Amino acid sequence: MSDTSKGFIKETDEAFQSAWHASKGGDAKWDAVMLSYGAEPLPQADREKLLNSEMKINRGAFPIELRRVFEKIAGKYPNDSKNFDMDAKVLEYYQKIKPFSGLGDIFKNASTGTAKYSQGFQKAKHHTYKCKNCGAPRLEEMQYDDCMFCGSKLFEPA
Ligand SMILES: [Zn+2]
Repeated sequence: MSDTSKGFIKETDEAFQSAWHASKGGDAKWDAVMLSYGAEPLPQADREKLLNSEMKINRGAFPIELRRVFEKIAGKYPNDSKNFDMDAKVLEYYQKIKPFSGLGDIFKNASTGTAKYSQGFQKAKHHTYKCKNCGAPRLEEMQYDDCMFCGSKLFEPA
């Protein structure tokens, strides 16, 4: 492995860890990491919007912010980042910060009744677009092309 690929792996790994160790929704230390890369932290209003969205997280910075840092690191190591699967890595990160769901949710819902459980599904169907990477609903009243939560492209480029 060349020194530069080691550098790329080390830096992306460190960014991943910093984001993961940040408080829920990010903190000053994480902001400093972002700024050290010249990556732009989300405006406070967007962070609050995401905190109140249905994309629940237990800890850590928002995936879209980690993506922004990854993009800067990729820019530093253009050769080593060629095969870097940005969406997959961001999704891997999201899996680590989201609350345990799956079986836990099913049991919780089972105890409050199946009616409520199926209602949840009905409600989910009303969203026209969902991010194919992380599943975040696209807020229809807003115009944007990238997922607000993970930063993935919502539409294939025309
Ligand atoms: Zn997404």
